[in-house]
Order: sequence, then structure tokens, then C-alpha cells
Amino acid sequence: MSEVDGTELGAPCGDGGASGVDCDEAVHQLYHFLDGELTEDRRAVIARHLDNCAPCGSAAHFEAELRQVIHDRCHDRVPPQLIERVAAAIDEEGRHGDQG
Ligand SMILES: [Zn+2]
Repeated sequence: MSEVDGTELGAPCGDGGASGVDCDEAVHQLYHFLDGELTEDRRAVIARHLDNCAPCGSAAHFEAELRQVIHDRCHDRVPPQLIERVAAAIDEEGRHGDQG
């Protein structure tokens, strides 16, 4: 008499949403999490998921390291004038978007 054979829907990893978010949500929020754009409550929930779920946890770790590398490299290689020009262009863009 087998009732469950382990092919339940919506549990792709060990955590299975027990932390308050499922993997889709955790991955979706990962960028905001790393950017520090989440509320403290939200951060805690995501952090707990990353702790409980190895695939998401290593993805977060990888993403964080990648950002650090890009950050470091950019400082070495992009001339300040270019950064200023890009910033000015973004600023200009923002002003256009303001209308309407
Ligand atoms: Zn997960």
C-alpha cells in the first residue's frame, strides 16, 4: 500500500517552502536580497531559505562572489570619465521618463 512515492508537486528541494518562500520566490528575490532592497522581515525569510536549501544557498553564494568580482574589475578597468558619461546618460533618461 504505497500512498506517496516522493513525486509531490512543488517541492523541488529540501526546503520545500518550509522557510516561508519556495525556491522560485527565493531565486526571484535573490537580486533584491543582494542589493539590500528588501525589508528586514523579507531578508530574514530569504536568508532562512538560503540556509535550508543547498541549491539556492550555493546560487546566492555564487551570485554574491560574482558581484564582488565584477565590482572589483570594474573599478580597475572602467575609466572615471566613462562612468560619469554613463551616469549622465542615465540621469537624462530618467528625466525623459518623468513626463507623463
Ligand atoms: Zn530553494
